Amino acid sequence: MRVNILGVTVDTYSMSETAEKIKLAVSAQRPIRVVTANPEIIYASQYNWALKNVINSADIITADGIGVVWAARQLGTQIEERVTGIDLVQSLFPIANAEKWRMYFLGGRPGIAEQAVKQVAEDYPGIVFHTSHGYFQPHEESGILKEICEFRPDVLLVGLGAPRQEFWLAEHPGLTFVGIGVGGSFDALAGTVRRAPKQFQDLHIEWLYRLLKEPWRWKRQTVLPRFLFKVLWQRLKS
Ligand code: UDP
Repeated sequence: MRVNILGVTVDTYSMSETAEKIKLAVSAQRPIRVVTANPEIIYASQYNWALKNVINSADIITADGIGVVWAARQLGTQIEERVTGIDLVQSLFPIANAEKWRMYFLGGRPGIAEQAVKQVAEDYPGIVFHTSHGYFQPHEESGILKEICEFRPDVLLVGLGAPRQEFWLAEHPGLTFVGIGVGGSFDALAGTVRRAPKQFQDLHIEWLYRLLKEPWRWKRQTVLPRFLFKVLWQRLKS
């Protein structure tokens, strides 16, 4: 089931349901594209028709953040839990390990994706990895596409920043069975950016931790109240 939030149709899947859908796509060798839709990208898509199209044409659109879960509830649909990029990636690793998937990490500053792989491979030696950093020049892109094609990943994680990664995946179909835009997940996996402590996560105030650690991001975060207001407006209108 999907819920329309400011024109973006978000799936109501839980984390385990999302992971199961991805597992099925890989085993059926059926290409799918996954967008983890946070309030920022949903808000931006209202003013960017191409972005809205790219998101809505994805096969799975997850509720990335408590703000999106809240919005769905305001609009009359229950979503059990949020499905963020980093949490989704982490819940895929045990499956990938058991199924011996091939995973390609594209994105992050030079060295970060390799560092992330080093960390993950310790716990999941069954996964076959390949990486490329995300600061390539336009003329280097064809080389990266060739590398991905030759590697034949089951899952391609693209961490080029939103919304570039969403456009990039949509513009390059046929590279993988499952393509997911994962934002700064490689930084978190590599340990160069710390996730909020568990207490912040449990209270659903990771945004507050981020604001305290990286105050220069405050401008980005002003989107959240505007998103919430727009959702209430959508509710009133309907
Ligand atoms: N990034 C990249 N290439 C670029 C710009 C950014 O690989 O040209 C990476 C950056 O290193 C970081 C991620 O994109 O790992 C940040 O994405 P975003 O800010 O969307 O992630 P969020 O912090 O919202 O998860």
